[in-house]
Amino acid sequence: MTATEAASCTACPLAATRNRVVWGDNTNSPRSILLIGEAPGRYEDKEGRPFVGQAGKLLNTLLERAELTRDDVAITNRVRCRPPENRDPTPQERGACLPWLEEEVQTTRPGVIVLLGLSAATWAHPSSKPKMAELRGTLRVLTVGGHRAISIVTYHPAAALRQGEVVERLIVADMVKAREMCHV
Ligand code: URA
Repeated sequence: MTATEAASCTACPLAATRNRVVWGDNTNSPRSILLIGEAPGRYEDKEGRPFVGQAGKLLNTLLERAELTRDDVAITNRVRCRPPENRDPTPQERGACLPWLEEEVQTTRPGVIVLLGLSAATWAHPSSKPKMAELRGTLRVLTVGGHRAISIVTYHPAAALRQGEVVERLIVADMVKAREMCHV
């Protein structure tokens, strides 16, 4: 399974409304850190790359504050097609996209997976009624196709766009923790 195969995916209803299937950045080769967001927005759907809109610009700044560059990390999303009106992806859509996520984890082989926001966090914490205030900073070992990585939950950069510097600082602290855990 590859980005080329994913480009014609029809596994969920989002196939009918998307423009582009948004495969991850840097997920075709190993990276120590993999960031997972929620879903493409308007700009990602247009350009076919993750985190290129406003949240992506803030993400780049937060990475820099954590002494990481965009090229140090791999970035993908819980689902690869834009939900109409940027609504949350449904459990069915998240389930349909899981094989692609697992594929990207297996090619990236990260030491640490940073789960940005609740949509991504539900992958590692499926049975909890997710509350970011409780999950943030939580570490869990994830095993995907025999590959083991440590996941850490943090806020989505869109939350920092709404809530400002306090949330920005929490995200930066979690990125630093991710970097230190895998010695980047
Ligand atoms: N852009 C993405 O690629 N993912 C998000 O979760 C938000 C914006």
